[in-house]
Amino acid sequence: MKNFGLDIWSNKNFIIENGELKLNYKSMPSLLQITEEIRSNDVKGPILLRFPHLVKKQIRSLYSYFDKAMKENSYRGSFSAVFPLKVNQFPYAIEAVTTQGRDFNYGLEAGSKAELILAMSKTPKNSNITVNGFKDKEMITLGFIAAQSGHKITLTIEGLGELETIIEVANESSLKVPHIGIRVRLHSTGSGTWAKSGGMDAKFGLTSTEIIEAIALLKEANLINNLHMIHFHIGSQMSDIAPIKRALREAGNIYAELKKMGASALNSINIGGGLAVEYNQHSHAKSHNYSIEEFSSSVVFLLGEIMDAKNVQHPNIFTESGRFIVASHAVLITPVLELFTQDYHEKLLNFKEQNPPLIEELRELNRLLNNKNCIEYLHDALDHIESLLTLFDLGYIDLQDRSNAEILVHSIIKKALYLTSSHPTDELEQLQASLQERYLINASIFQSLPDYWGLNQHFPVMPLHHLESQPRRAASLWDITCDSDGEIGFNPDKPLYLHDINLDEEEYFLGFFNVGAYQETLGMEHNLFTHPNEYTIDIDDSSYKIKNAIESKSVLDILNSIGYNRDEILNKLKNDLIKSDFIEETEKNDTLAKLETFLEQNGYLRTTN
Ligand SMILES: *Cc1c(COP(=O)(O)O)cnc(C)c1O
Repeated sequence: MKNFGLDIWSNKNFIIENGELKLNYKSMPSLLQITEEIRSNDVKGPILLRFPHLVKKQIRSLYSYFDKAMKENSYRGSFSAVFPLKVNQFPYAIEAVTTQGRDFNYGLEAGSKAELILAMSKTPKNSNITVNGFKDKEMITLGFIAAQSGHKITLTIEGLGELETIIEVANESSLKVPHIGIRVRLHSTGSGTWAKSGGMDAKFGLTSTEIIEAIALLKEANLINNLHMIHFHIGSQMSDIAPIKRALREAGNIYAELKKMGASALNSINIGGGLAVEYNQHSHAKSHNYSIEEFSSSVVFLLGEIMDAKNVQHPNIFTESGRFIVASHAVLITPVLELFTQDYHEKLLNFKEQNPPLIEELRELNRLLNNKNCIEYLHDALDHIESLLTLFDLGYIDLQDRSNAEILVHSIIKKALYLTSSHPTDELEQLQASLQERYLINASIFQSLPDYWGLNQHFPVMPLHHLESQPRRAASLWDITCDSDGEIGFNPDKPLYLHDINLDEEEYFLGFFNVGAYQETLGMEHNLFTHPNEYTIDIDDSSYKIKNAIESKSVLDILNSIGYNRDEILNKLKNDLIKSDFIEETEKNDTLAKLETFLEQNGYLRTTN
């Protein structure tokens, strides 16, 4: 997979040209060039790049496919979308979403008090706010305050208790009453890892009986004309389109029934999120079976059909897809710090005048290995190393002999794998898997790819350069946390091959893609590694601009953020050093300055890459 499945996961956002990975947009900068420019300012460690043009591309795609489907089906409702804040609340992600979405009146969805406050401060006036999740009286009152302040806001109730609280707040105050939505509990469930939001035993939503009761409560409180929306969300990253169609039929019929029951202001169906993103790099393992085009036309067609059959006006359609909008906009770039088996480099061989016979044989095998004999020689070498290791255990050969043997065998295996890579056998593939090269990356998987750690979610990964040559090393990726879970192991079903790079001579950077959804706030500060340095990249016709730099938290700041006192720590360390007896005053001052610099830098590794 020389193109690392680019044609499968990248949605034409990136292309390979002259061996480098480039943005497939306007002036087409290479990711390596951007990375090197950022690193020229003494930035080390991992970096996160945001590309607002990719947010715009997704927003435009969502709106234009629904628009097209509505025209084709003579659909008579409108289309609106909101961005669910839980998918990425980081300031420059939200700035990209709100500025790129302005022309579409793209709004925001909130699921907690803090997200609601964020939505109230960042949603442009003509765009919608929807509020989901469990709400107390304070949060509901905040919704009233938002409506009073001029926002087009819908509070979606998750249970009857919330509706009672809304009625209470409406009776107690003269604040403007927000639009009310009802989350319906559907029989249908989604598919895929995150499909826990639907079904009879779902965490959210009102049952049929509760919906009937809600209508009665609303009528009694004279608030039935505030009921504008019904809502459902069957789970994230829907791999299959069938469940969403079932959910639409169910929700569409509930909508039509409510209209018949006198919910005359009801005019919208909110179909939640769940549009999938392609994360896989291998064509046999695709993560979803539909396109945005099929999705939008199914939604529009089905809702139109149900309403026409029941003689109900077409509802406006709302979506809350988040992953689909922002996953592609962020790329994590990590330098590779080390290739572990480079410790077995042939230049480290150190033969004696008299070597044990088996070692002499290994030397010959290594020297004479060719296309024809490589399998046979490989078998011989594997046999010899077994014997040599036994001889070492028994004290017949010394450490230098053992080192020479290990280097020779590694060399033979490597050559044999290269020679047979165009026609691998099962045995060789197994050997590949057991002899992976371990690439140490300057990043934390817990911090930057938490869904890999928690859910085994694969993220596309590839080098930013050297793409003119075939990568041949079966690769596993190790992060710099001291936790054995901080590893992305080699998976023979979905193999990753990387280049054999001599890091003493050149740098090697890996990009992890589609990391813009969920990873950032889910990221953990395990081992006290923090959100990496981030930058927004604006690309125009002739060049690009790097802006909105946010540095990763310093060592002192991360300690401070979990409750230590940064100054107390700094003073303690400085005083301990000052009290010690230095021979030279200048060295003392230099060391103090060094110490202070170290504590004000972030915790990623600096000296190597
Ligand atoms: C999480 C969530 C979404 C977003 O789901 P995606 O899969 O990211 O599109 C939308 N609506 C609700 C209610 C959610 O909880």
